[in-house]
Amino acid sequence: MKTIQAYRFALDLNPGQERDVLAHAGAARVAHNWALAKVKAVMDQRTAERSYGVPDELLTPSLSWSLAGLRKAWNAAKPEVAPWWGEVSKEAFNTGLDALARGLKNWSDSRKGARAGCPVGFPRFKSRRRTTPSVRFTTGAIRVEPDRMHVVLPRLGRLKLHESARKLARRLDNGTARIMSATVRCNGGRWHVSFTVEVERAERTPDRPQSVVGVDVGIKYLAVLSTGELVPNPRHLVAAQQRMRALGRTLSRKTGPDRRTGRRPSKRWERAAARLGRAHARVAHLRRDGLHKLTTRLARKHGTVVVEDLNVTGMLRNRRLARHIADAGFSEIRRQLAYKTSWNGGRLLVADRWYPSSKTCSGCGAVKAKLALHEREFTCEVCGLVIDRDRNASLNLAALAAEFDTAGSGPVAARGADRKTRVRGQVAVKREPGTATAGQTGTVLPQGRTIDRVLTKAH
Ligand SMILES: [Zn+2]
Repeated sequence: MKTIQAYRFALDLNPGQERDVLAHAGAARVAHNWALAKVKAVMDQRTAERSYGVPDELLTPSLSWSLAGLRKAWNAAKPEVAPWWGEVSKEAFNTGLDALARGLKNWSDSRKGARAGCPVGFPRFKSRRRTTPSVRFTTGAIRVEPDRMHVVLPRLGRLKLHESARKLARRLDNGTARIMSATVRCNGGRWHVSFTVEVERAERTPDRPQSVVGVDVGIKYLAVLSTGELVPNPRHLVAAQQRMRALGRTLSRKTGPDRRTGRRPSKRWERAAARLGRAHARVAHLRRDGLHKLTTRLARKHGTVVVEDLNVTGMLRNRRLARHIADAGFSEIRRQLAYKTSWNGGRLLVADRWYPSSKTCSGCGAVKAKLALHEREFTCEVCGLVIDRDRNASLNLAALAAEFDTAGSGPVAARGADRKTRVRGQVAVKREPGTATAGQTGTVLPQGRTIDRVLTKAH
């Protein structure tokens, strides 16, 4: 199975190398901003000419928004715009122009309705102070040195890694991976190199192909499994979050920048801001580490993983829930499970967003009308079952898999099962009707009704 994967390693740059990378990132920004200004000028010019009644064939020729078109325009103009262009790799300009070409495409697709998700705004100028320095190399000498502690990139030369690149190097050595590009970027005060790699993955089967596990992503715990296991949040996460909050308060007491008065930030504010940035990065890293460990373990072990489809955007609007949900990384868990189950030969089932996993009794199937968020214990009025709330939900999710298998093979499900929904732009998700009756086998559910259990199969 061929996949595109990223391998990211922390870098230890010396001051000279850091200057070089920043010069490249700056060059990317210059090219981006120049081309954006050009695009805007041409658009405005054409609008003005039209308003004077100039016929279409006499208008200023429009600028091609493709990467190739932008690159052509840039190459013609660079001796004048950037006489220093020879000092950096051409890949630097390409980085900026590519970002602009994508931004323009996203904007026009979004306007035409050809793009799912939130509306996309018109690209904006990149600021020197506010953009994350980044440069991407797609051609030239990109390799991992035999010692696995250094990488070689065009123009930048040999860069020392903070950690061993052995996982990638092993794949490169036995010919199961091919580097397509390398991006150097600064996140949270630390430099990273990220390789986009085409990897030939061996076919795998989960350790227990018949096993089904329901995963309830929680607040108190990272996840509660239907096996009864409570997966704790990563260690030190709480401490890191407390530190983050304290640093935020410290920062607010310093003299920060003020756009209205043009006040520059104080040195102390800058130092505190950098410290806060690193604390944010640490929290993000701890969370990511916990999520990856959990999803890898689940995908390797179980044949079927069932999760809930939460309306994360809607829930983030509820401010009291928002931080917790964002912290737990709900959608990230699902994204990781989607690709990891497919790598491991398992499958991911996503319960419909209206499926009442918390309100259903896992013993008798009775559904409660209401269950407040603070009620941590589920008590069934019908059969008298008393069970932890999250454990109950995970058991319900696991039970859905059996239902899906019977419904999924039946004649009802065969009809109309072809609507594709995108999950965060990456994983194609096929929607299949579940146990809906023959009259409503369509994929769009009637509004305002109690919805039959419908499962989404992600693969
Ligand atoms: Zn019950």
